[in-house]
Amino acid sequence: MFEVTILGGGVMGAVTACFLARDHGAAVTVIERDPSYARASSSLSLSSIRQQFSQPVNMALSRWSMAFLRRVADELAVADDRPAIGLVEPGYLYLATPAGAATLRGLHELQRAEGVDVALQSTAELTARFPWLAVGDLALGSLGLTGEGWFDGPALHRAFRRKAQASGARFVASEAVGFETAGDRVTGVRCADGSRLGGDAFVIAAGAWSAPLGRALGSTLPVSAKKRDVFVLETPAALPGCPLVIDPSGFWFRTEGSLVLAGGPPRGDDVDDMPLDQIDHGLFDEQLWPALAARVPALEALRVRSAWAGYYEMNAFDHNGLAGRLPGWANAFTACGFSGHGMQQSPAVGHSMARLMAGLDAPLIEALTPQRLLDGRPLIEANVI
Ligand SMILES: Cc1cc2nc3c(=O)[nH]c(=O)nc-3n(C[C@H](O)[C@H](O)[C@H](O)COP(=O)(O)OP(=O)(O)OC[C@H]3O[C@@H](n4cnc5c(N)ncnc54)[C@H](O)[C@@H]3O)c2cc1C
Repeated sequence: MFEVTILGGGVMGAVTACFLARDHGAAVTVIERDPSYARASSSLSLSSIRQQFSQPVNMALSRWSMAFLRRVADELAVADDRPAIGLVEPGYLYLATPAGAATLRGLHELQRAEGVDVALQSTAELTARFPWLAVGDLALGSLGLTGEGWFDGPALHRAFRRKAQASGARFVASEAVGFETAGDRVTGVRCADGSRLGGDAFVIAAGAWSAPLGRALGSTLPVSAKKRDVFVLETPAALPGCPLVIDPSGFWFRTEGSLVLAGGPPRGDDVDDMPLDQIDHGLFDEQLWPALAARVPALEALRVRSAWAGYYEMNAFDHNGLAGRLPGWANAFTACGFSGHGMQQSPAVGHSMARLMAGLDAPLIEALTPQRLLDGRPLIEANVI
């Protein structure tokens, strides 16, 4: 039987394990150093999904994944247990001032040509749809009509793990620290507890911590941990129909039940590995709140109920995922560096990774090949949040 060892059991590792075991009959072992997933990006994600990207590959991955999420209860059922992930589709709304209007129109043309269900909205149309939105400084907005929204990411991650295990995959609590190799083949993984795991193929899916494992194989994976803060807000204001709004200033907000979630780019230098318990409350007080209240005057009245932080697994090369075979190796692969859009793309990426390792074609992830690092061909995504 074809044996695959996956390093890292976050959503990328779990989904790849699931499709390998479920669809291709592979014997899969996932090595995960922290089975509580406390610091995994997959546990701390906003878990939103959009089609409004600048790169066709990202639109296609999210479209495939959205279709999968809509039928997730059938796809990932284990006996009578049908997972519920709370998928809702209120859309994303990108807002532009006159200075940004031409760029938004250009992206709109590109997205329409790729079949994305998106509509440009004048300020009058925005006011009619979202009367709580202040539009005085805006020129227009771009609203996803279908195929965009959010879901319970940790529930999806759990459902993939459970389906993988039900299909025979094994999850081992250990930390991978190195490899054994012979020629251009990896023959085993060494773990911190002294154990060794073999396999016919190996996948680095260690999220923000993938770079040291790549280095152990002589490969540069330019991925590092960039902290992002999320603020959970209580407000008496009602924002009916609220999509995930991306403000021209860079901050974003969306609702979660009766709460509002908001965040924005970090202040100052975006240093690697900032401690997750050091929330930048000044970012909210000094920048986000004033900007939020200007965009939604009803949010003048709010209270910060709590906040959390997680790591974007940022690919410094071009802010897009690296998925495919590691250059120079016959049987080593990676799926990492999704730079803040990995949760939504995980179904399509894991499905394609499993096909690739099973010797089938995987056109959806061809553009994400790590070979582009060596070729100096960045796949720049303009719409990174
Ligand atoms: C605040 C925030 C908001 C986000 N919002 C969105 C969003 O709206 N939409 C979206 O699509 N994405 C979003 N993301 C990004 C998304 O969550 C990630 O892209 C995705 O979860 C990455 O999954 P992963 O499996 O690659 O990494 P992780 O979930 O981090 O998993 C990696 C795993 O590898 C393990 N590991 C590391 N090193 C080793 C080792 N040596 N040996 C064994 N195990 C190891 C770790 O313990 C971890 O469990 C967000 C992320 C954050 C932090």
